[in-house]
Amino acid sequence: MRRLAVLGYPVSHSRSPAMQTAALDALGLAPDWTYEAIEMPPEDFAVRTRALPGAGFVGANVTIPHKEAALELADDAAAVAAGIGAANTLSFRDGTIRADNTDAPGLLAAFGRPAAGLRALVLGAGGSARAAVWALAREGANVEVWNRTGERVDELVRALAGSVEAGRDMPRLAPVSAEQALASSYDLIVNCTSVGLSEGDDPFSQLPLREELLGRRVTVIDLVYAREETELAATARGRGARVIDGIEVLVRQGAESLRIWTGREPPLELMREAARRVD
Ligand code: NAP
Repeated sequence: MRRLAVLGYPVSHSRSPAMQTAALDALGLAPDWTYEAIEMPPEDFAVRTRALPGAGFVGANVTIPHKEAALELADDAAAVAAGIGAANTLSFRDGTIRADNTDAPGLLAAFGRPAAGLRALVLGAGGSARAAVWALAREGANVEVWNRTGERVDELVRALAGSVEAGRDMPRLAPVSAEQALASSYDLIVNCTSVGLSEGDDPFSQLPLREELLGRRVTVIDLVYAREETELAATARGRGARVIDGIEVLVRQGAESLRIWTGREPPLELMREAARRVD
């Protein structure tokens, strides 16, 4: 028996068990391999996670609020996890815990085009924004970051600048004010805020976005996923922009995690269907 899980608090809403179980089935790995959701309060995270290998677990996804704790707890970390400062994937092998981060490659895979030289706007300064900024800047995009609470952007840029520049020829990574963002046009806009999650959210008043700038040459990635298409995604699509929704990003990060644990090629289409079926 090889057990996998998603660890979070709360975690009952997660689509990962349905998506990963469908993938394990399709790969012929079930029922030996299983994937479940485990709710872990932050105060128990380290002790309970260290005990997982003893209970037959070979890996885990980690979600809110444990991604930073997961990196700290690991014996060994992939460069991507160390660079972002957070892990969403743990592997338990030979008595050691290895940390990885598939949010960054997942975002790039969902985007599916070279990012080098593109002008990108990342909205938000939380955990998902850190991964998006790191991924795009490492690929050589010029990344501008806006957040409602400005100090968090300065902090994020300071924290990531070193590890980003170590790998590239000084890509541009800079904070941007709402006024500057509203007056600029971007090739790629990534919403890493939770605006769109609650009914009544208005991306065009809560975020520095103008509908007129969401034309054909723009790609919008909205990490938020809800029952209905978000207003940002629907408006951008209506204006001819290329839109990638939060489920596609979820699927791509999950696929990268599955590849790390099993070494197998993930069945993307089945994973998409399973993740969307949860509605
Ligand atoms: P987080 O660390 O809690 O960050 C939340 C961000 O949203 C912060 O930048 C916060 O700004 C901003 N925000 C919240 N309310 C806002 C408002 N009313 N107006 C403007 N900004 C607001 O969360 P996270 O983990 O980065 O996740 C962000 C979103 O992405 C969530 O909706 C989450 O569900 C989604 N997500 C999706 C995936 C996926 O695979 N599709 C993966 C991860 C996350 P302040 O700093 O000013 O508070």
